[in-house]
Amino acid sequence: MSIQILIWHMRTYRAKRVDMMRIQREVLQNGKPYPFSFVITQEALDDSRQELSGVISEAGLLAEGQIKMQSQTHVEVCFHLSGEMRYPCARCLKPTAYACDFDYRETLDVPAETEEISILPAIEECLFVNEPFRVLCRPDCKGLCPRCGADLNDGPCPCPEPEPETDPRMAALKALL
Ligand SMILES: [Zn+2]
Ligand SMILES: [Zn+2]
Repeated sequence: MSIQILIWHMRTYRAKRVDMMRIQREVLQNGKPYPFSFVITQEALDDSRQELSGVISEAGLLAEGQIKMQSQTHVEVCFHLSGEMRYPCARCLKPTAYACDFDYRETLDVPAETEEISILPAIEECLFVNEPFRVLCRPDCKGLCPRCGADLNDGPCPCPEPEPETDPRMAALKALL
């Protein structure tokens, strides 16, 4: 397979996956829930309106759910999001895997002239409200040196030990020894 064909294949594949996040209004007109299932990759979130601190891992997140017309201007979307995100470790900033297992339900406003309904805003909102407060790469992560920025998990940095606070009582005790 030539490289051009390979690139073309990759492009079509990508486009297809993104398109699955868009649902034509006409398929919802009968009022029945319309099921969907697709994999969402980080690329889709690149223009996200939410300030997400994490990124989707290479395998993507699986969104499985359904969308249903509530009125001419509202649709209800509910789904389960599963897979892996990466968040910076709260102490050393190393990208750290975080398992996602979120249920989400939201009513979206869809102006009557909207032909195509995107599920993406609901996915972004789901990730936003479920952002973990704090992720650690390991429970005993030593973090970064506040002076030189070295990762203290790799060993001690060359910075001098901070001066121990001089306690006059300790000094008196030492004098006795
Ligand atoms: Zn860490
Ligand atoms: Zn240091």
